[in-house]
Amino acid sequence: MFGLPVSRGVAIGRAVLVASSRVDVAHYFIEPANTDAEVARLRHARDTVVSELTRLKNDLPPEAPAELAALLDVHLMLLHDPMLSDATRHWIETRHYNAEWALTAQTEVLARQFDEMEDDYLRERKADVEQVAERVLRALAKEEALLPHVAQARDFGGEEPLVLVANDIAPADMLQFKGSVFRGFVTDVGGRTSHTAIVARSMDIPAVVGAREASRLVRQDDWLIIDGDAGVVLINPSPIVLEEYRFRQRQSDLERARLHRLRHMPSITLDGEAVELLANIELPGDAPNALESGAVGVGLFRSEFLFMNRDGKLPDEDEQFEAYRSVVQAMKGLPVTIRTVDVGADKPLDRMGINELRHEHVLNPALGLRAIRWSLSEPAMFRRQLRAILRASAYGKVRVLIPMVAHRAEVLATLDALARARQQLTDAGVPFNEIEIGAMIEIPAAAMTMPLLLKHFDFVSIGTNDLIQYTLAIDRADEAVAHLYDPWHPAVLRLIADVVRMANAAGKQVSVCGEMAGDTAFTELLLGIGLRCLSMHPSQISAVKQRVLRADTQRLAKAALALLESEDPAADWQQTLQMAGLRTTGAAR
Ligand code: PEP
Ligand code: MG
Repeated sequence: MFGLPVSRGVAIGRAVLVASSRVDVAHYFIEPANTDAEVARLRHARDTVVSELTRLKNDLPPEAPAELAALLDVHLMLLHDPMLSDATRHWIETRHYNAEWALTAQTEVLARQFDEMEDDYLRERKADVEQVAERVLRALAKEEALLPHVAQARDFGGEEPLVLVANDIAPADMLQFKGSVFRGFVTDVGGRTSHTAIVARSMDIPAVVGAREASRLVRQDDWLIIDGDAGVVLINPSPIVLEEYRFRQRQSDLERARLHRLRHMPSITLDGEAVELLANIELPGDAPNALESGAVGVGLFRSEFLFMNRDGKLPDEDEQFEAYRSVVQAMKGLPVTIRTVDVGADKPLDRMGINELRHEHVLNPALGLRAIRWSLSEPAMFRRQLRAILRASAYGKVRVLIPMVAHRAEVLATLDALARARQQLTDAGVPFNEIEIGAMIEIPAAAMTMPLLLKHFDFVSIGTNDLIQYTLAIDRADEAVAHLYDPWHPAVLRLIADVVRMANAAGKQVSVCGEMAGDTAFTELLLGIGLRCLSMHPSQISAVKQRVLRADTQRLAKAALALLESEDPAADWQQTLQMAGLRTTGAAR
């Protein structure tokens, strides 16, 4: 099965199929010694639902339609059906899944069986199973969990590795799997630079998105190989294939260990040019890892992840301040670039929003009220965030980055909001330092009017993920057009080169913080174009550094200039590098 490669490496494990609406269910292993207690928890929840339904049935008014009583009978029967109750218990006893996970795993198995039934009436009974499971899940939520927190990685020796398969996972849901039991991910939908893919990459575990039929073809508990380099998923592979992939897994572990040794080496090219390699992070907890990877600062803190899945209650100023300060302190004096909230498009504030945004309210969410547009439409929220960022500057070097700017009016309104935030803090006697303000260049209009923007900003950062999407009119999250999402497109390369040239000419710092920055296929080209600052997932820093150490920017600059005239830059760049001996290994995609 083929999809789009997202995150390097190979994962081998048993499939855990999760319905997209169910990815928020807690997944953790219970201690084997607690198996009986967890089974009792499940039984208790089931008994609660049985009593509820029995009471409902007994209290039905005489005029209630007969179908209602019949339906309650079906649900009561299902609660006692061994296909649901015994099989769920089995997942707890043999796999040590927590009760919620065991129940959703078994519901998924049954849902498949119903889907395959010829008989319409029986096929529709799937909804009944799901409703019953939903009731039990609600009852379980009221019971005390054995573990206080969810999605903990627990290894009780001998546990088999697990990989998660879902139709879709919202970025915020993906986030909750950080540090979880899963060693790999497969989704049916999504593009390589969708935010779900970005979060998967930040977790540095193999993942494939856009595998279309995956969640239909894979069955609960199948053995899967996820090849995150090639975008391939293999179901129940033969022992020979399995052995081959285990070998590749070991090779890739060795390669990582080798690269890891570069982490504290200065990032300087052969001809002595220093190249700043910074980290992209999503949550404060990512900062120590960024430091450990050898990043010389945070080039992009996607602050919107602090705003997600909060049932409409956004983080207040103090909560944000604490989060920003903790990153600043964790980075021990290195610069931290905090991007103001960038929600909208494929990053809804809450999981329900993804449907609302995509299908109901707006036709083109990527062109809608997102990023700075949303911030400016919520002035009090925006000022709270700016104050929190300013306050964190009292603890280290902080920079603020504005996403999706394109219009003069937005620039002026943003600067005005920042001035007001500063004034409010000054009036209240709250300490803060001066901070640099930067603009994300991710809309072609911004790239084409750089001199106008540069007057107002101290630095710019090129968001190639969106710049490609908007230049080529290709939805970055839509796997159906993923083959046209092409960073090598001459228009994209020319725009990037123009932005870099104009920023350098104006003496303003320019970086790339989109996924291109961490993709080693582009390292030499970006250096040749004139970039000296790249921000990426911490896990990619060493591999990019290795390329930097072998690069000669003067020769690359000449080659890059010639490439801008090429009709087929991807092929020509590969050839140029090989002919000039600028790179002998690795292939550009
Ligand atoms: C980008 O668009 O390249 C970027 C870095 O921002 P995001 O991926 O969060 O939209
Ligand atoms: Mg963007």
